Amino acid sequence: MGSSVSDMVGNTWAILVAAGAGERLGSDRPKAFAALRGRPLLAESLERLEASGWIDAIVVVAPPEWEEPAILLAEELVATKVTSVATGGATRAESVRAGLAEVSPDALVVVVHDAARPLLTDAVIGRVLEPLGEGLDGAVPGLPLADTVKRVRGHEVVETLDRAELVAVQTPQAFRADVLRAAFAGDLEGATDCASLVERRGGRVRIVEGDPQLLKVTTRQDLERVERLLGG
Ligand code: C5P
Repeated sequence: MGSSVSDMVGNTWAILVAAGAGERLGSDRPKAFAALRGRPLLAESLERLEASGWIDAIVVVAPPEWEEPAILLAEELVATKVTSVATGGATRAESVRAGLAEVSPDALVVVVHDAARPLLTDAVIGRVLEPLGEGLDGAVPGLPLADTVKRVRGHEVVETLDRAELVAVQTPQAFRADVLRAAFAGDLEGATDCASLVERRGGRVRIVEGDPQLLKVTTRQDLERVERLLGG
């Protein structure tokens, strides 16, 4: 892009994907609306994006039929950066695509975050934005793996992978807006994160330091862990 981080000011959009069903949580509502200290899980990351000096505008992607509760939540939190609530799709990638359609054509940078990772910090947002100012196409937070990882077929081990070459990737993931749009204009098959679509097209994506507290809520135990981390 040949621009510095200061050029992104005023043009950095966030897409907060919250349209997953979250069946493993065993709740009677979509995961983003499961209760975390008496509020919908979504409130935590939304509030943090709203408060972030890096983020200028936010698109929330809600499950079908949950757009209205998402709008009401944004109003309740006085999240004035929320410009629209989009309806999610059948997969995470389709939900991101729906969010991207609501991002201004003037946006220079798009930060995509999972509502399922409530403990978002401004520090990690800053870390994923920095490489874009150096001309990278995208940046994602990653953590080293504690466990040995093996590739298997059925129950049989095919090989043991070199742990030094592996990272566990989180969100927020930041991209040049034009690069992300081009990546999402194509086939979304098998995309478990946004970066994989950018990589497929030859985009340069950097790994920056992740945050162990940015854990993804999948089970009830994860929700309890986040509650403990929040001190309640
Ligand atoms: O299901 P999982 O927790 O891996 O989803 C990651 C994030 O993607 C969550 O915040 C979830 O709400 C979102 N998602 C979505 N639309 C889907 C599936 C997942 O917005 N169809």
